Amino acid sequence: MSVHGGGCACGRLRFVAEAEPLDSGYCHCRLCQRTTGAPVLAYASFPVAAFRYTAGEPARYASSPAGAREFCPACGTQIAYRRRLDPRTVDVNVGALDEPARCPPRRHLWTSSRIPWLELADDWPRHVAGAGDPPG
Ligand SMILES: [Zn+2]
Ligand SMILES: [Zn+2]
Repeated sequence: MSVHGGGCACGRLRFVAEAEPLDSGYCHCRLCQRTTGAPVLAYASFPVAAFRYTAGEPARYASSPAGAREFCPACGTQIAYRRRLDPRTVDVNVGALDEPARCPPRRHLWTSSRIPWLELADDWPRHVAGAGDPPG
């Protein structure tokens, strides 16, 4: 079984995903930009049943009617996004993984709000919106 471990910057929150990601990519939506303070968020989506926290309890912030961000209440590291309706997957922030190189992106979402100076030279599919999801 493949296991992806990770945690926050201060180490109070630890998590594990015991599966390969079902999806992964860059999200250029404004909510991901705002909640991370970064120009783009790299995410990897794991099945809900395969993801759990092994240390600490995350704080939650409803970033939109569609879903919530989970983050460390001590250091503020954002760990994951969870949809409110039909939460089959947990979107984990790839930067929080112990081995982010193992979860490369496979597409771009919400390129309609990509910051123009951010150029990523790859051939992954680009979606103007969220591939079916509302911005979360
Ligand atoms: Zn922390
Ligand atoms: Zn986003």
